[in-house]
Amino acid sequence: MTSRLPGLRDHTPLDRRRTIAEAAGLDAEALAPLDPAAGLALSQADHMVENVIGLIGIPVGVATNFTIDGVDRLVPMATEEPSVIAAASNAARIARTTGGFFTSSTGDVMIAQVQVLDAVDPAATRLRLLEARDELLALADAQDPLLVSLGGGAVDVSVRTLETRTGPQVILHLHVDVRDAMGANAVNTMAEAIAPRVAEIAGARTLLRILSNKADRRLARARAVFPAELIGGAQVAADIEAASAFAEADAYRAATHNKGIMNGITAVVLATGNDTRAVEAGCHSHAARSGSYRALSRFERNAAGDIVGTLEVPLAVGLVGGATRAHPAAQAAVRLLGVATAQQLAATVAAVGLAQNFAACRALAAEGIQRGHMTLHARTIAASAGAAVDEVAAVAERIVADGRIRVEHARDVLAALRAGSGTP
Ligand code: NAD
Repeated sequence: MTSRLPGLRDHTPLDRRRTIAEAAGLDAEALAPLDPAAGLALSQADHMVENVIGLIGIPVGVATNFTIDGVDRLVPMATEEPSVIAAASNAARIARTTGGFFTSSTGDVMIAQVQVLDAVDPAATRLRLLEARDELLALADAQDPLLVSLGGGAVDVSVRTLETRTGPQVILHLHVDVRDAMGANAVNTMAEAIAPRVAEIAGARTLLRILSNKADRRLARARAVFPAELIGGAQVAADIEAASAFAEADAYRAATHNKGIMNGITAVVLATGNDTRAVEAGCHSHAARSGSYRALSRFERNAAGDIVGTLEVPLAVGLVGGATRAHPAAQAAVRLLGVATAQQLAATVAAVGLAQNFAACRALAAEGIQRGHMTLHARTIAASAGAAVDEVAAVAERIVADGRIRVEHARDVLAALRAGSGTP
């Protein structure tokens, strides 16, 4: 299977879906749930959240050209933002010349916090809780025999004392290997189950018992090399490094740099039915781990003068539970990706985040972001100006050619087109 599918953009969505299914080795109907007419039914949605009155459509596109740890993958991305999918595919095309994306991870360990209040002797409480480690782990494991049978379960306990404005608190962390689950429900159940015993041992009371979205025991890393000669030469490479250094040193720039990473990450997380807020909270907390908010990625030049991109992010994503199981379109997206484990999914998400970030930094350091973005945005502008489906392409082409990608101009172009003159 190859993720190199040149000319995909010239197909209709239906043809594209067939081509993609065939390229991924899936039967023709496997991606049908991505069709609005065949995807999530209102009756299914009614079981997912409360007070359902409808659905909102988000386009799902496929990023091409990705090679991740030696495997080609076609990546479904759900996003309303033009140019995101094209940019990721472009960056992946450049990276595949040097072998694509290489990833590593810390494993699938999530953290649940149990907050202990009113401990008379916080330091001694901490040690008593650590002494009870094995008992607490066993109590937690008893809540989820299925997870334990799959090789997961509670793996460690750590305890801190925390000075707060309401006095000292004792914070217990339960570390749980959640395997292929996102894990929130799994660890929350365990945290609530161990809390009474924690309170007993502490001789105090427990309050909050819930996972931490700062999933820094569940990090995914991606690395790729982008040859200088394919990205505009030595000066562009130097400028990408300078752009990266800016984001590594400045929170204002880092926020936008990281938003670019999240353009890729959130799109794959959403397409696969995972919890976008959990992943975003995790990534931004990781960006602030030094005490200052900083870039999640880094671009530097290697000895050959090529750009090496590296990214490290917490990724609490899963293949079981949540909407991934309940949503037919999410299931189709997971099948398309062909990932067998949560770690493979996280590796893919990290690779897309890095590709997205590289594409934005390259454009910013070279011609600026607007040229590519606005060209692709022209179709959205044409549609906002009232162009019908069969008019959008002509209006978009004209406003790009005129160098005036604005709704007012699109309206004039549309009026002229309808009047048959073609000239506004
Ligand atoms: P879940 O409870 O539906 O699934 C996890 C369970 O599936 C495990 O406990 C295990 O018993 C079972 N399982 C079967 N096969 C497995 C495998 N191969 N690997 C691991 N477990 C397997 O879901 P979850 O992943 O625990 O929780 C995810 C949901 O929790 C999401 O919908 C998320 O939005 C929501 N949530 C998030 C937060 C938060 O992020 N702060 C808080 C509460 C709930």
